[in-house]
Amino acid sequence: MDQNKKILVTGHTGMIGSAVVRLLKQRGSIQLLTPSHIELDLCNQAKVMSYFKQHSPDYVFHLAAIVGGIHANNTYPAKFIYDNTQMHCNVIEAARQSHIKKILFPGSACTYPKLASQPIKESEFLNGLIEPTNIAYAAAKINGIVMCQAYARQHQLNAIIAMPTNAYGIGDNFHPEASHVIPGLMKRFHEAKKQGLSEVVLWGTGTPLREFIYVDDLADALIFLMENYNSSEIINIGTMQEISILNLAQELAEIIEFKGKIALDATKPDGAPRKCLESSRLFSLNWKPKISLRMGLKKMYAHYFLKS
Ligand code: GDP
Repeated sequence: MDQNKKILVTGHTGMIGSAVVRLLKQRGSIQLLTPSHIELDLCNQAKVMSYFKQHSPDYVFHLAAIVGGIHANNTYPAKFIYDNTQMHCNVIEAARQSHIKKILFPGSACTYPKLASQPIKESEFLNGLIEPTNIAYAAAKINGIVMCQAYARQHQLNAIIAMPTNAYGIGDNFHPEASHVIPGLMKRFHEAKKQGLSEVVLWGTGTPLREFIYVDDLADALIFLMENYNSSEIINIGTMQEISILNLAQELAEIIEFKGKIALDATKPDGAPRKCLESSRLFSLNWKPKISLRMGLKKMYAHYFLKS
């Protein structure tokens, strides 16, 4: 990305968007466009079109999205599918009309089939049924991915599709029900330690396997792809390190120094039994994550809970 080009980051206040902006700013004198929601309502097609006309971005990271954990996905499916589909339809079409140089669209590991062979290769896309707890969110993402590929084919739009594994870190959502597992558990362990509780409850059976990427590593990979990747073939972004939810909880308890018991609430859903991405396509381009899970959890815990 040339220094004098304009880079639009949608969703710059979100966890991934703010990490991308942080990293881009460290690179010096680039022209960043980070409109607020008031300046640019991405659900409003006319406003998106006129914003692109007025500002002519060269590169677009479309990172705005309504996101949430397993509970939020299950409870607000209509909002997840409607808002997310509207936003990317508007942005991708505006990108075509204003002849941008490249757009990056993030997919999500949850767009792969629930029972995909593991670790999940890019070729598993549309190869089976989706986990039902996040079908609405996944369907919107699938629409965005197919739309990028269709625009690349019909209009030669340079659209790249990055498929990140579960991200966590600074900027995460700590809502007790809408959060993903790491912020949810981090907060519960911290509160339990502070209040001297003897038990923390883990949702589900603790057996699902997940892979997690620290948000700075993810942002670094997205910028790396924007600079080095030119294909509408999906590319996975993961660490290729997986952990069970119970082991994750034990690791968090250790970092937070919660000495009580970890109980399981099997009435809560497990979601997909295993979700680990095969990231060798990305690794073969010479990109590797730098932050281990333990290091990332410690950084995040220190940032949010050890400030004062
Ligand atoms: P997923 O990867 O889309 O399933 O997203 P989540 O991060 O919401 O959940 C990952 C796994 O952690 C699932 O098996 C959940 O049941 C489990 N889990 C255990 N405790 C919690 C919690 O407090 N919050 C969330 N969100 N998930 C939890």
